[in-house]
Amino acid sequence: MKEKITRELIKDLKGERPHPIVITTDLFWDCECDTDYINYTSEAQCFECGCIKDESPDSRLIEVVDMLITKSHLLEDPNFQKNPNSRSS
Ligand SMILES: [Zn+2]
Repeated sequence: MKEKITRELIKDLKGERPHPIVITTDLFWDCECDTDYINYTSEAQCFECGCIKDESPDSRLIEVVDMLITKSHLLEDPNFQKNPNSRSS
């Protein structure tokens, strides 16, 4: 039941239902891939479709959140996380 409410909320914010506010974030940008089109700003280019960050729009915040929820299992994977204590100088 809670999940249904969340999905409805995301649908709402995605603009599938009328919503006046579109929030974007410059921490991510969209490329032209059909899936996984949200790229971290640290990535200057998508190697799948060849889009360049400087020529691409910022990602919509709600799509970033959606992506992070979908991929949250990756964030919990210790092999995926970069060790904040290791510094390469
Ligand atoms: Zn791409």
